[in-house]
Amino acid sequence: MTIDRTMIEPLLEIKNLSVSLKKRDNISVAVDDLSLNLYPGEILGLVGESGAGKSMTGSAILGLIESPLYISAGTISLQGRSIIEAPENIRGSQISMIFQDPLVSLNPLKTIGEQLIKTIKTHFNISKAEALDRSKKLLSDVGIDPERIEAYPHTFSGGMRQRVVIALALAPEPSVIIADEPTTALDVSVQAQILNLLKQLCTERGTSIILITHDMGVISETTDRVAVLYSGRLVEIGKTSDVLQRPQHPYTAGLVASTPNIDPSSFDKKLFQIPGAMPDIDDVPDGCAFHPRCEHARDKCQKHRPPLFDARVSCWLSEKPGGTL
Ligand code: SF4
Repeated sequence: MTIDRTMIEPLLEIKNLSVSLKKRDNISVAVDDLSLNLYPGEILGLVGESGAGKSMTGSAILGLIESPLYISAGTISLQGRSIIEAPENIRGSQISMIFQDPLVSLNPLKTIGEQLIKTIKTHFNISKAEALDRSKKLLSDVGIDPERIEAYPHTFSGGMRQRVVIALALAPEPSVIIADEPTTALDVSVQAQILNLLKQLCTERGTSIILITHDMGVISETTDRVAVLYSGRLVEIGKTSDVLQRPQHPYTAGLVASTPNIDPSSFDKKLFQIPGAMPDIDDVPDGCAFHPRCEHARDKCQKHRPPLFDARVSCWLSEKPGGTL
């Protein structure tokens, strides 16, 4: 039986979040009035092209927004507690991050055991021997032989290094993990192993994951729900199977249509391209930000920003029941 997680209390709530950038007298908006919930034990995908605001949203949740960027509006709360002003140890212990490049996340001068033990002892008041035991268990959980605990990061392959990074992210026993393009730097087969590992850990530990990616294939394989971002705005959200099989926003439909397909019958067909490019945050068009690229655009789209209709899609085509692509 599929659990409808949206019937239970959200773990993480983002309400009307805006992240702005001040440049001289000009203020640009990188994340614009974004509201989303993350439910216990779910994997929520954030998808969109570069510049859509995905990583910025992840950084805002972790409190990593730095000047000249700033949070100009909205709230982020974890289990009902505001975390925008939360001390770093609260954010670090309850929300972890997995970055794209494991080499950047790991200290090349320390063994993986030293890094795991240090992380565990930062968050738990336990002895070094207990931290060592937990480190070995974590390595085993992510599919690494615990006997390799004294190895240095450079002695591992890219996929194994990413497993170490996942073990480090799990070490504080967080309730939320933000994974920002965690498999982009890996081979396709290793990518599948890492995505399966994340899904398995999410199920076994009840950890919720926000998976940031530009890859619709990764979204399709891994996530329970997906939020499509464009120009810092939420344009469509829903159950992954609904959104990918029946996209209601023209941008989502374009992303789906431009995803490569390995079905041999599609080999002689030209891959769809969404015309144009994501606008710069200094130059976001009025109305619907997608209108210069949208084949369905009408006058209203150029002047008025569409709200989120039916808690699903921000497009004037869905204003009336039965409105469709
Ligand atoms: Fe296209 Fe208009 Fe919908 Fe924007 S609101 S996606 S321009 S139809």
